[in-house]
Amino acid sequence: MSSPVETPPAKKPADDGKSVIDMSKMNEGQRAALQVTEAARESHDDISFGGNLFMGRWKPEKLYPLTDIDPEEKPRADKFLADLATFLREKVDADLIDRTGEIPEEVQAGFRRLGAYGIKVPQKYGGLGFSQTTYCRACLLMASHCGNTFAHLSVHQSIGVAQPILLFGTEEQKTKFLPRSAAGELAAFALTEKGVGSDPARVTTEAKPDGDDFILNGEKLWCSNGTRAGLLIVACKTPPKLVDGKPRTQITTFVVEAKSPGVEVVHRSRFMGLHALYNGVIRFTNVRVPRANVIGGEGRGLKVALSTLNSGRLSIPASSIGVAKRSLQIAREWGKERIQWGVPVGQHAAVAEKIRRIAAHAFAMEAMLITTSRLVDRDKKADIRLEASMCKMWGTEKAWMCLDELMQVRGGRGYENVESLKARGEKPYPVERMMRDNRVSMIFEGSSEIMRLFIMREALDPHLKVAGIALNSERPWGERIKSAFAAAGFYAWWYPRQWLPFGGGAPAGMHPRLADHMDGVGGLSRRLARTLFHQMVKFGPKLEKRQVLLGRLADIGTDLFAIAASCIFAQKQINDGQPADRVLVLVDDFRAQAMLRIDQNFRGIGNNADQHGYDLAQQVINGDHQWVEQGIV
Ligand SMILES: Cc1cc2nc3c(=O)[nH]c(=O)nc-3n(C[C@H](O)[C@H](O)[C@H](O)COP(=O)(O)OP(=O)(O)OC[C@H]3O[C@@H](n4cnc5c(N)ncnc54)[C@H](O)[C@@H]3O)c2cc1C
Repeated sequence: MSSPVETPPAKKPADDGKSVIDMSKMNEGQRAALQVTEAARESHDDISFGGNLFMGRWKPEKLYPLTDIDPEEKPRADKFLADLATFLREKVDADLIDRTGEIPEEVQAGFRRLGAYGIKVPQKYGGLGFSQTTYCRACLLMASHCGNTFAHLSVHQSIGVAQPILLFGTEEQKTKFLPRSAAGELAAFALTEKGVGSDPARVTTEAKPDGDDFILNGEKLWCSNGTRAGLLIVACKTPPKLVDGKPRTQITTFVVEAKSPGVEVVHRSRFMGLHALYNGVIRFTNVRVPRANVIGGEGRGLKVALSTLNSGRLSIPASSIGVAKRSLQIAREWGKERIQWGVPVGQHAAVAEKIRRIAAHAFAMEAMLITTSRLVDRDKKADIRLEASMCKMWGTEKAWMCLDELMQVRGGRGYENVESLKARGEKPYPVERMMRDNRVSMIFEGSSEIMRLFIMREALDPHLKVAGIALNSERPWGERIKSAFAAAGFYAWWYPRQWLPFGGGAPAGMHPRLADHMDGVGGLSRRLARTLFHQMVKFGPKLEKRQVLLGRLADIGTDLFAIAASCIFAQKQINDGQPADRVLVLVDDFRAQAMLRIDQNFRGIGNNADQHGYDLAQQVINGDHQWVEQGIV
């Protein structure tokens, strides 16, 4: 169904390859970072559910109805997932792997036998050829049991060779590399360097053309699987291109054979959790790589890396669901089993509140992920940037919340490690290990802060397309005036519609309670859209600096997406035979929790101490309040 507040498409601005963002007030570092990431942005004409949500356009038909995976795939996928679950349960000792920091060879051999290194690789290249949904279910399963083996397999196929080659590889590259990857020759993805974390424009690893080859020099940091990999995806700086007479950094991505002369593992990194992650520092000294190993074309490396992360990113929230479901299982058992003050602890309201939060969020996380995965299965080129980022940012944060609540439900036993619990004859729930293994999920493959910026960049995109040129002091006046007239026409039509006093409607066939929730989300999306617009008018180009405020808007949009996905997922469960009241109670409760956050975030937009807090932080960094640190060692 279509929104009653349909907006006419904005006239497309002339695509001259220049960014519509005004960078005139930025320093060189900010400008370079933004230029490079803007140039690497994917561009889609068809705006996704999430993009429309931020524009106050209600498009549930983009997600609804939720369909099953292909009937051809279903029996094969069910068997694979059942075999994988049995293998994990019987042969993968997650605590041993955590303790020793090694994944035993027989475990890796077992994964190879199951085909777990090539879950999404098409069968014609030696993989299992499963959908994104089945892949996510496999990730969920692995992470619910063992964070280390999940990370090992997910890095290999979500960001290692398989994903970028599937997205951007030539037929020759697919034929050469995919069978090796599917057979279990370990793959890694090397973007990060000492000076390159969230800001990929600063890549220093260099690839110099030399005849039909490139010569690579540099050092990559924290390359997961890197110390054992046979194939590395490496992002390098290649000779700059002249844009408007100025040199512009070019990033190019290569497949590098790890056994090539000059590739050296110089350090294995060790972390708080994920003890068996084969992660390290990889040095490249005069490494010769054939031009045929460039992925996606010279200068398109960041696009390759960012697009790889976009779809690859879904495996992390899949792991978050595994963690949340396991947390729920442990909280359920312990909440009933542990008696204190005469009753099971789960009957004390303060503990019940935690169990309720874990249950509702585990349900909503799965709803968001499966809804998004199905978009990819329907159309491999679908624009899921916003939805995938929301799944990653929200899923990892909510999984951490679930773990934190679980730790409290378990009391002192949550903090005690498995060996100690076992030695005392108690049930060895691995809460302490799960916490250690999971904290990094909010940092790697796009930190939560970067995800919020990314979400808001995409949310603002329709506005930038309509009004960006008019507001951009770097553009000629003629262009700006023309754009201002076009923008005025658009907003005269669009803005009044964001005040229409009714909901968004719901797709036909939904349970009345779910339809009611959906209708409410549609209405709230207009409140979100006009609030975002008001902030744009208030702050102009400086809005970009208001990260905390933008974060609130990103969080509202994400919670709205979570409610809508929960309703759609719930309808599917009911259609598949789940008793409606058992499903509805979860949706109702999740919605109630999400609405509290949404209300609070809306309130915080007009009433906050953001600027005061920012100023204080700058004073702290400048050392003005070092006196507060007195009294420590
Ligand atoms: C266990 C582990 C495995 C990893 N595996 C890989 C891998 O396989 N391949 C690979 O290439 N990399 C890998 N990484 C690197 C990982 O992706 C980076 O840690 C991540 O990109 C963040 O970079 P950083 O740690 O340098 O943080 P920084 O970029 O230095 O950021 C520090 C803090 O500032 C915030 N921040 C930075 N910029 C902004 C901004 N503009 N606005 C607001 N906040 C900002 C960040 O969110 C963070 O909170 C791994 C890291 C770890 C810890």
